[in-house]
Amino acid sequence: MPTSKILDGINRFQDYYLENADLFQQLAEQGQSPEVLFIGCSDSRVPLEVITGAGPGDLFILRNVANIVPPYGTGHMSVGAVLEYALLHLPLRHIVICGHTRCGGIEALDRDPDWVRASHIARWIEHARPAKTKIEAAGLEASARHLATVRENVLLQLEHLRSYDVVREREKAGSLALHGWVYHLETGRIEAYNSGTGAWEAVGTQTEPGR
Ligand SMILES: [Zn+2]
Repeated sequence: MPTSKILDGINRFQDYYLENADLFQQLAEQGQSPEVLFIGCSDSRVPLEVITGAGPGDLFILRNVANIVPPYGTGHMSVGAVLEYALLHLPLRHIVICGHTRCGGIEALDRDPDWVRASHIARWIEHARPAKTKIEAAGLEASARHLATVRENVLLQLEHLRSYDVVREREKAGSLALHGWVYHLETGRIEAYNSGTGAWEAVGTQTEPGR
């Protein structure tokens, strides 16, 4: 067992399972039917189910470094398989890409890639580099650049999503909505991109967007 904390967690979960036995039995026997696919960062500080209050069966989830969706045809089977399964076999209505502040994957774009010891990271985060390039060209002051790049990366990955026929066709038909979010580690707030206004707006009852 990795840690006693995890063992304690498993024990608590066994109690939770018994308390919600009907739900778990229903999911086991009737299968899953989530309407939302969440694509988030692997960062341990971004627990998507905790943030959203989701329970078993609510979310189909993909997490990777810097919440990246490689463009169609670039050979990354994992992400494409998730999209195909979610859209061809589940009653999906929404895809949310959720970035976050202080993202190590985005910060790594500021350093020279280590192509020897960390070749997978180096290659992977290149899928986010156009976001950094665009923000650099905007001439923002240094303190604003990270959040701006995190946001821009979310928008970039939404565009990458649309390079998959299965996504683009469903969005065009009006049966699938794409959403871009950023989770702020410092405040717990979530903001969403409003494609109509181009603004990032607070989600939920919070009164102002995260910093
Ligand atoms: Zn991250």
